[in-house]
Amino acid sequence: MRIVIVGGVAGGMSAAARARRLSEDAEIIVFERGEHPSFANCGLPYYVSGEITDESDLLVQTPESLRAALDLDVRVRHEVVGVDPAARTVRVRNADGEHTVGYDALILSPGARAVRPPLPGLDSPRVQTLRTVGEAVRLRERLDDLPDGGRAVVLGAGFIGLEAAEGLRLQGLEVDVVELSEHVLPPLETELAALIREELTGLGIRVHEGIGATAVETGAAADTVVLGDGSRLAADIVVLSVGVRPDTEVFEAAGIACERGALVVDEHGRTSAPHVWAVGDATVAVDRVTGVRRPVPLAGPANRAGRLVADHILTPDRARPIPQPLGTAIVRVGGLTAALTGANRRSLEAAGIDYRTVHLHPGSHAGYFPGAEQIHLLLHFRAGDGLLLGAQAVGADGVDKRIDVLATALANGMTAPELIDLDLAYAPPYGSAKDPVNLAGMIAENVLDGALELWYADDGLPGPEALLLDVRDPDEVAQDALPGALTIPHTQIRERLDEVTAAAARRPVLIYCASGLRSYLAYRVLRAAGLPAKNLSGGLLTYRALHPARELDPV
Ligand SMILES: Cc1cc2nc3c(=O)[nH]c(=O)nc-3n(C[C@H](O)[C@H](O)[C@H](O)COP(=O)(O)OP(=O)(O)OC[C@H]3O[C@@H](n4cnc5c(N)ncnc54)[C@H](O)[C@@H]3O)c2cc1C
Repeated sequence: MRIVIVGGVAGGMSAAARARRLSEDAEIIVFERGEHPSFANCGLPYYVSGEITDESDLLVQTPESLRAALDLDVRVRHEVVGVDPAARTVRVRNADGEHTVGYDALILSPGARAVRPPLPGLDSPRVQTLRTVGEAVRLRERLDDLPDGGRAVVLGAGFIGLEAAEGLRLQGLEVDVVELSEHVLPPLETELAALIREELTGLGIRVHEGIGATAVETGAAADTVVLGDGSRLAADIVVLSVGVRPDTEVFEAAGIACERGALVVDEHGRTSAPHVWAVGDATVAVDRVTGVRRPVPLAGPANRAGRLVADHILTPDRARPIPQPLGTAIVRVGGLTAALTGANRRSLEAAGIDYRTVHLHPGSHAGYFPGAEQIHLLLHFRAGDGLLLGAQAVGADGVDKRIDVLATALANGMTAPELIDLDLAYAPPYGSAKDPVNLAGMIAENVLDGALELWYADDGLPGPEALLLDVRDPDEVAQDALPGALTIPHTQIRERLDEVTAAAARRPVLIYCASGLRSYLAYRVLRAAGLPAKNLSGGLLTYRALHPARELDPV
């Protein structure tokens, strides 16, 4: 059997290696358009930053090592320029011209290309994308050639854009990041993205949100990036990172079914053409939470799908279906980590799913053990049955582990209250006896069973129809408070209940503290006394992330 694979990096090379492990007899040919198979695309920004010092560290394998270890026939600088599914052949172009190669099974893993919006000036030599080892090396060389005080503009503040921006900043450049969406890291909820914006600013990176570039003007000494409001940013380097689109023209032209440019596949990766499978960034996936069909351009799903497709070709009776992705993703920004899994608010609303959200800010480990950092965590779950829908977190420590636990819970169809019972590893340097994941489940359970009614920072401040009650200590109130709030420390709520009752005058009482914990205690006292009360989800910490204090706000 001859298996031909198009694309020799994440999905393609996983499929090739698994195919060999399943069959010593198969002939396995991998065509890779670029210079390197199996390179570390996810590592490219860290080569730009200088943290990965040696270009060779990005080259995980070579055609020679793949031949030696797995007897793979990897042909780099070979581009597949046509497919004839009826004849079961691909047309391949290399330096010597074009030739035709037959296949018994064809696996397409061509990945995605950088989106190039129709902006004047993007053809400037100072503008580049960051998708290949060659591009990363070129960027580093240009950095080395720049005089001190070089300037970079990064267009797009998604995961790769932010990694590139931080890398350039670490190399000493002045960096501007421009993001057309309302905030950096668009998939992150606004209240968490605000923390990332602050971190970027702390790194000395200037952030332009809710605005796009309209042109790049080429100059003799530097280019100028013009923004929608007319402002102008000088740039020695412009990194274009505004998204990707499936690299599928050749396959679509061959009649293989595509949906908005992405190859349509079934649960085993089969395309519409017989004997042709596809995986990775080039394919449509069905979002596990919302059911929406879209590409999920992440390395994990591509690698795992590559393996499963090889299983389906060589051991079809035993092959497991390719799971629907959750889109679990993570990024380092300065001293912070941002991570998410499952659906966000926007996708839940678009899908018409009725959901609830809880915010919490627990420590990464026991507060009495030195070095605990706050984790800013939020959880979305279905109204009614509490099915987990999504989770996001930002913090300096322990974010990766919590989101990975929550991704596992989501993948297993757990409800938010079932998080309470997760038996997670604990000793003071690592976590708490009630881990943040357990705590998130407890708060969610309280919401679901009516023990806790929340109000949200998105709602803004109440008018005269409600009483605002701040239950923090006076020194905290002196630092920052919401205007018009009655302030009573939570420890005095029981003895000053009459005062609250009188001030409320039958109006709902909207309680808050710093994080939502002390206000929950006060909330329970008020509810036991029959007062209609609600607790601010995530407390003032979440509120201020959405509505920063201005100097003129009365305290
Ligand atoms: C800078 C950067 C950082 C990233 N960081 C992360 C991260 O931290 N975490 C994460 O989950 N994901 C990350 N990703 C995304 C991840 O790399 C991709 O999701 C993953 O590589 C997709 O695998 P794939 O096999 O579909 O495509 P790729 O790995 O991109 O491989 C496709 C290959 O196919 C080749 N090809 C295309 N068309 C043809 C053709 N016609 N003939 C021959 N060859 C062809 C291309 O040259 C390419 O090498 C990052 C991507 C980049 C660029």
